Parts: sequence; structure tokens; C-alpha cells
Amino acid sequence: MSPRIAVVGGGPAGLTFARVMHRHGRPVTVLERDPAPDARPPGGTLDLHEGMGQLALKKAGLLTEFAALSRPEGQAMRVLDTDGTVLRDWRPRPDDRANPEIDRGQLRDLLLGPLDVRWGRSVTEVVPDSGRDGVAVCFADGRRERFDLVVGADGAWSRVRRALSPATPRYTGVTLVETSLDDVDTRHPGLARLVGDGSLAVYGVNRSLVAQRNSGGHVKVYAQARVEPDRQPGLDPADTEAVRAHLLALFDGWAAPLLDLLRHGTAFAHRPLHALPAPHTWPHVPGVTLLGDAAHLMPPLGVGANLAMLEGAELAESLAAASGPGGPDEAVRVFEERMWERAGRWAEMTLAGLDRLVGPDPAQALALWDEVQPS
Ligand SMILES: Cc1cc2nc3c(=O)[nH]c(=O)nc-3n(C[C@H](O)[C@H](O)[C@H](O)COP(=O)(O)OP(=O)(O)OC[C@H]3O[C@@H](n4cnc5c(N)ncnc54)[C@H](O)[C@@H]3O)c2cc1C
Repeated sequence: MSPRIAVVGGGPAGLTFARVMHRHGRPVTVLERDPAPDARPPGGTLDLHEGMGQLALKKAGLLTEFAALSRPEGQAMRVLDTDGTVLRDWRPRPDDRANPEIDRGQLRDLLLGPLDVRWGRSVTEVVPDSGRDGVAVCFADGRRERFDLVVGADGAWSRVRRALSPATPRYTGVTLVETSLDDVDTRHPGLARLVGDGSLAVYGVNRSLVAQRNSGGHVKVYAQARVEPDRQPGLDPADTEAVRAHLLALFDGWAAPLLDLLRHGTAFAHRPLHALPAPHTWPHVPGVTLLGDAAHLMPPLGVGANLAMLEGAELAESLAAASGPGGPDEAVRVFEERMWERAGRWAEMTLAGLDRLVGPDPAQALALWDEVQPS
């Protein structure tokens, strides 16, 4: 009899895991809290790296579909000074496929494909119960169900993590406010040219502004600033004009076209950035493991989703290859060791990177950009 496997969370980690398992003919129950795939806005664009997110899609047999949907031109990157001077203007070669962009919603639909997700299943607790009939998964509606293996891919505020580790995400000192502009090419042609085909970044003292083109003329804008936890401005995120006024004051003195990105933004979302301690490990518990942000939440510097997908694909391949009674548990152990080592390195790098990107010396941000950008 094949083991009963559940993955909690239908984000990049959980869906990639389930999709690669599906490719190997191994059924997985996907338990997702959202009531439907389009229950909330899917978020911005993701660049999928050749050796990470794209490798995961290859393992899922989805690379051709990804190539058709993704935007290689979205790799373009421009850095401006706060007075609007262009400091860097990097454009990819036409055949460059190292880090093409894809909208999160498109990626989700691509991964969903034939998967049978149980929507509206909010998990409250997971109880490992070795020796009895597997691991109990408890739901918000009071139901319980048992599985042989539960994979926690339930993101930053994971409920599954509590069965393995007492660690909780800590505030990084940086808060991000997200807004967006629709139909930019028609409604804001000047801003459309400013952002270009890819991303625009501006670094000031303890703050930064990033704008990214998504498909369909949609631009996401991220305003980031160092804010002490007890100095959060106490604004109601739903009060769009109050948040806008606060941001315009925070970025006062920056070039007018940059401020226009905030002036024309529609709704604002408030996201204090949190991270788990790095490296985050735990004593192995048979029947439960973690993937993606649930295992190693780190600052959003372009690797979180890539790692989440790669881990999902690797765990699925290891489980599919495991045979014999101790097989699946040994496969999980080996997977965890590898994940901790790799994710630990990335977590340390992104924490240090955030200090440089949103820090007291904007020259550090530019230097970091030069270190990571292909020549
Ligand atoms: C502003 C921003 C920009 C980013 N840009 C990039 C980028 O360019 N590149 C990159 O690689 N990464 C990026 N990241 C990081 C990336 O978003 C995450 O690392 C990635 O989404 C992690 O995937 P995941 O599947 O582990 O978790 P999530 O995407 O958080 O998915 C978790 C899923 O679990 C579900 N869930 C949660 N709790 C429960 C529960 N109790 N029961 C059932 N289901 C539950 C959620 O509804 C969700 O569907 C960015 C992050 C932010 C905030």
C-alpha cells in the first residue's frame, strides 16, 4: 500500500512537491487554507533561476510551458540615484534565459494543472504520533485526519513547524509597503518608460524603492524602510490616502517621477519583513517535515520561492526513489540535511544583503548589486 502523504500549503513549495510526486505516479493530498485559487491577489512577479526554480520545473516536466509564459525581457534592471540619475541600466541579451520573470498567478496555475487540491482546509495543528496510526492533522473546523507523512509547506507562519521546532520568525527591522499601478503603458506612459521591461531600484539612507513590471501592464511598487518595532506609524493600511501621505513624507526630496510611483499607487499593503533564525534546524521527527518559508523564512531578495520549489521537487524525487520499510523516513532525513545546509547559507546571505540594501550607506546597496548582477 502506498504511504498516505499530505502537504499543507498550496504555495510554490507545496504545489511543486505535489506536481513532481504526481509525475512519478505518487498521490499526495494538498491541503490549502484559501477557499479557492483566486481567493486573494496572487502577489507580484518572480524570477526563476536556471539552477533553482527552473530546475524544479524541469523535474515537474513543465519547462516548455514555463518558457512560453515567462518574460526573459523582465530580467532588465535599472538602478537610479534618489535624484533620478541613472546609475546602472542592465538589459539581458535576447537569448538570456538565466532568470526570466513569471507572474505568481501564472506560476500557480501552471503548477496546479491536474492536481486535486482540497481548498478551504485550514490546518491548526499537526500531532506526530509514532507507533500509532501515523500523524494527526487537525483542521479549523474540528475535523482530524491521519497521514504517514505530513509535509509543512504552509509559509512564514506555519502551523506544522510547531510540531518540530519552537522557532518563530523575528522582525528584521525593515518594513515593506506594497502598492501597484495598472495599465501603465496607457495611463502612466512616463512611469512605464522609467520602469522599463524589468525592475527599477533606488537606494537611499535606510530606505529603498523598487518597481517591477508584471505582465499585462501591471507594475508593483515596493517601498522599504528601517522602522523600529515600537516606531511603526500606526496607520490603518485601508486608509489609502493616509498611507500615501506617510510614504511621500518618508521619501521627501526624492526625484518627482520616483514619488509619482507612490502618488499613483492604488491600494497599499503593509508587510513588516520577518525571518527565521539562520540556520534553522530541528531534531528529526518521523512523519513530519518542512519546506520553503515554513523551514527557512528569509528576507525577500529573490531566492525564497526558488528554494521552495527546488526543495519541493527534490523531496518528491527522493520519496519516489525510496523503497523498503525505512525508505521514506531515510529519504526525508537526507533531504533535511541537504536543505538545512543550502538554505542556511542563503538565509545568512539574504539577512546580510538586507542590511546593505536598506541601510545607512546607499553605496553598499550599489556595490551589492554589482556583485550579483551578471556582467
Ligand atoms: C514582496 C516579496 C517579494 C518576493 N520576491 C521574490 C522573488 O522575486 N523571488 C523569490 O524567489 N522569492 C521571492 N519572495 C519570497 C517568496 O514569496 C517566498 O519565499 C515563497 O512564496 C515561499 O513559498 P512557500 O510555498 O514556502 O510559502 P507561501 O508562498 O507562503 O505559501 C504557503 C501556502 O500555505 C497556505 N497556508 C498557510 N497556512 C496554512 C494552514 N494553516 N493550513 C493550510 N494552508 C495554509 C497559504 O495560504 C499559502 O498558499 C518574495 C517575498 C515577498 C514578501
